[in-house]
Amino acid sequence: MADPMPIALTIAGSDPTGGAGLQLDLRVFALHGVHGMAVPTALTVQTTQSVRRTLPCFPNVVGEQLVALLADAPPHVIKLGMLATDDTVLRIADLLDRFPRPRVVDPVLRASDGSYLLERRALRSLVERLVAGAALITPNLDEAETLTGLRDPEAAAAALLEMGAQAALVKGGHADGPPDDFLCMAEGGTWLRGERHARDVHGTGCGLSAAIAARLARGTDLVEAVRGAKRWIERGIANANAIGRGRPVLGLSLADDLSAP
Ligand code: PLP
Repeated sequence: MADPMPIALTIAGSDPTGGAGLQLDLRVFALHGVHGMAVPTALTVQTTQSVRRTLPCFPNVVGEQLVALLADAPPHVIKLGMLATDDTVLRIADLLDRFPRPRVVDPVLRASDGSYLLERRALRSLVERLVAGAALITPNLDEAETLTGLRDPEAAAAALLEMGAQAALVKGGHADGPPDDFLCMAEGGTWLRGERHARDVHGTGCGLSAAIAARLARGTDLVEAVRGAKRWIERGIANANAIGRGRPVLGLSLADDLSAP
């Protein structure tokens, strides 16, 4: 029999355009040679222009899917994206306490058009139950500020480690300042230089955290996983495709910089 395939599980919202959310995560996993599993937390009605409506899934059904998967085919890494409601955050946290797996938390709070993808009252549970203990949290600067009250990337990243994350990647790509990301771990922090892109591309945050999760599932160490994922997503941004009337989607290709799992 062939060697076991690395497995990554995404717990996230559905984006019917395919540009973000579950649909993108599964594609990113496949392009990294990783088997993707997916538990939806919400349906959304959206176009490439805006999110029109979100319909949270029943938290107990999210939980039942997780129990079934975690017992049958435990993933090497779990990626958390849009979680929609406080009840869903709590249900997931209870199960991950019982069946711990390394997790990458993309704290999806709002879409670029301003729509809420996580209800406000869930912020506290997100921080106390899922950020605490995460292998990595990947907020953009606005999300980092909402979670910590701090806008300085180095200070916000340090605060996220204080909250219990093992590492934090604070992304500057959408802010007015330099397009650089700050990666902070217990051993110290490092700036990862980025490029400012003229085009605002849908799904860059989801895609980056999924690519990091896929690389971790293959056994790559955290710093290399983040660096490699960032380079790969930058190529996807440069090759973005205008599929509809709104923002273009990532133009992704097979990840060709991977060592054997
Ligand atoms: N829809 C879903 C399901 C998402 O997870 C996200 C982002 O994480 C979005 C929409 C919004 O993507 P963007 O921030 O590119 O607007």
